[in-house]
Amino acid sequence: MARMVGFECSKCGEQLAPQAAPTICPNDGGPLYVRYDLAEIRRRTTRDSVNSGSKSMWRYSAVLPDAKPVTLGEGFTPMLPSRKYANLLIKDDGLNPTGSFKARGMSAAVTMLQHHGMKKLAAPSAGNAGGALAAYAAAAGIEAYVFMPRDVPIANRLEVEASGAHLTLVDGLISDCGRMVAERKEKEGWFDVSTLKEPFRVEGKKTMGYEVAEQLGWSLPDAILYPTGGGVGLIGMWKAFAEMEELGWIAKGRWPKMIAVQSEGCAPIPKALHEGHTASETWPNAHTLAAGLRVPKAYGDFIILDIVRKSGGTAIAVSDDDIMDGVKELASSEGIFACPEGGAALAAYKQLLQSGFLASGDRVVLFNTGSGYKYLDVFAKYWGVDAFAVPMKLPASRNLGGIIGPY
Ligand SMILES: [Zn+2]
Repeated sequence: MARMVGFECSKCGEQLAPQAAPTICPNDGGPLYVRYDLAEIRRRTTRDSVNSGSKSMWRYSAVLPDAKPVTLGEGFTPMLPSRKYANLLIKDDGLNPTGSFKARGMSAAVTMLQHHGMKKLAAPSAGNAGGALAAYAAAAGIEAYVFMPRDVPIANRLEVEASGAHLTLVDGLISDCGRMVAERKEKEGWFDVSTLKEPFRVEGKKTMGYEVAEQLGWSLPDAILYPTGGGVGLIGMWKAFAEMEELGWIAKGRWPKMIAVQSEGCAPIPKALHEGHTASETWPNAHTLAAGLRVPKAYGDFIILDIVRKSGGTAIAVSDDDIMDGVKELASSEGIFACPEGGAALAAYKQLLQSGFLASGDRVVLFNTGSGYKYLDVFAKYWGVDAFAVPMKLPASRNLGGIIGPY
């Protein structure tokens, strides 16, 4: 486990001393990065040390904070070569606990907050982050308060309720939920686990970058397609590349083009990028079937835009129809039942091939960030499947006296 030497503001560069449960930069509200003594880690460990670690993101404990993990086996998800597109690899983060990539960030954040004795955690969520927070809080024996839009996929509501978290459904967007957490947290004694309002969700998400490198034999792809709501994974992967280079785990060289994928109904990052701005504007009337992309303004938008530009990548918005076609294509060509955000990444890949931004020879990693099983209500509605045409009855109990079939 790595010893933290402190925190660094992503905005002003201020160095802060190690402290329990840090939040954001006191000067300017900038998200904080966790900093380690990488030279010491380099002397002490090699990248091969990960081989003796668990088959989870905690195999990278050499570069994660020193605390007893609250783990459900998150991370180290498969990276599958596409069966349809040569040189495309699909990183299937839908296979995480709670069915989404949010497990990584919440595992790391809840680990540290439990370590520092926090008792009540709160977060706004577009859906999956709330489910992940609820699950990890339950595993840690900590109370969770989740705020999500009323129209999130039903799975997100049910998983939060099942895990005993306090759920508030909000007539609004994640930004409205975030405001409610901010207004009440002091009075209620909640620790705010919102995207980038504490530094450890990035630490969890950065393991995606370590995994991509390890699964490519400690090299990096030409481009990464990343469905971007709050953008924590994109920010985390970029941090991972920097750390791995400093640790000598990857050769110095070109990092992947980072491609932020959004939906046409909520595309603040592509708009800001193409208009040459360093930050985004709040997207009005955000709407998309990809609930995870319905983030009208990401707290770390300026970091996302900076990374996309520095990497030579781009940002692209795709339509909901293309997103749903992408879901069907991933299922029918690859056998992967993806979330709409994964479908968006495939739609973006095809458009960028067509525009010539990507070449078919480029080695590209596409992130599927969640399982399609969490969006059954969304798919049923879109594909015109009347899921409740047959009145649902709970199965009657069978008293078979321990006999197992045949029936
Ligand atoms: Zn600052």
